[in-house]
Amino acid sequence: MSTTKAIQIKKNGGVEVLEYVDVPSPVMKGTDVLIRNHAIGVNFIDTYHREGIYPVSLPMVLGREGAGIVEAVGDQVTKFKVGDRVVYLSPGSYAETVAVAENMVSILPLELSFEIGAACLLQGLTGLTMVQEAYSIKKGDTVLIHAAAGGMGLVLTQLSKNYGATVIGTTSSTEKAELAKQVGADFVINYTCEDVYEKVSEYTKGLGVQAVFDGVGKDTFESSLKCCAPLATMISFGNASGKVPPVDILKLGAKNIKLMRTNLFNFFTTPESFHNYAFQLLELVKSKKITISIFKTYLLSDAHLAHSDLEGRKTTGKLVLLP
Ligand code: NDP
Repeated sequence: MSTTKAIQIKKNGGVEVLEYVDVPSPVMKGTDVLIRNHAIGVNFIDTYHREGIYPVSLPMVLGREGAGIVEAVGDQVTKFKVGDRVVYLSPGSYAETVAVAENMVSILPLELSFEIGAACLLQGLTGLTMVQEAYSIKKGDTVLIHAAAGGMGLVLTQLSKNYGATVIGTTSSTEKAELAKQVGADFVINYTCEDVYEKVSEYTKGLGVQAVFDGVGKDTFESSLKCCAPLATMISFGNASGKVPPVDILKLGAKNIKLMRTNLFNFFTTPESFHNYAFQLLELVKSKKITISIFKTYLLSDAHLAHSDLEGRKTTGKLVLLP
């Protein structure tokens, strides 16, 4: 039986459950392409799967995205051929090879490296779908972006600036704040020692913000609601500090706030959605309208180090694994 090296979990837990092992090579369907990974993106969701915050069936090869070269195509594949450089979203990407449904694959432009491809896709698409569909940012808006120096935060800050918004970011350190400012954040609050609501009130002259992008979750949810202007949109998109407890819907009525919990994959409502968004994103990266900051690359076999750094709040921008 042919095998591929992968990071697999057999039970939920800390980084010690990540095992670098040989698993059976992927089995392709007619609509799949077989991709040899050259770079693999690390996402916070991988830690939720590892810990069991998002339930998964075990054993499981972790990962949600990567970039590489097409090694084989199924007999119903029409858009790709052997040798194409591609990026993709798919379960099981922490591996040397992965079989991916054709409708979740996009050509990686020659100008972009595999590392940048793997670093930009999932977070870039999450940012793009949110600023277009969760809250359509308009020139003159002020938005609040938590963890502004993180992978999502840097992308969201740049996208919001591109749409003409004033950006208020939050981070846990002055070094992280500097990085958020370098990509365009107008104000950055250190939420470990400054009161977010007070600072947002000061920067918005008491008006509040038109939208909040909150991937921190439990620790920030309540203050995020307080920072909303009347009729604002509160977007909760992650649980870096833990899951948001059940919400009393009556709280939204105080300012007629719209609340949305987003999941990237549920924005792909038609077969073309992924391709259209991926094309837009890769053009933005290629034309340098968004710059992608890679914190560090790790060997695939060292995925545990990447998870420790990410969960330990030690990182900025994106973490990438190299098979
Ligand atoms: P980040 O690079 O942003 O890392 C997480 C950051 O969150 C940390 O660096 C830290 O920044 C901040 N943070 C605050 N409290 C904690 C805590 N208790 N533990 C760890 N980190 C904390 O990660 P990603 O860009 O990969 O993801 C950001 C969020 O976006 C995650 O919640 C993720 O699940 C979510 N996400 C959601 C998607 C969706 O479809 N809904 C898709 C992609 C990502 P600081 O030190 O500045 O506080």
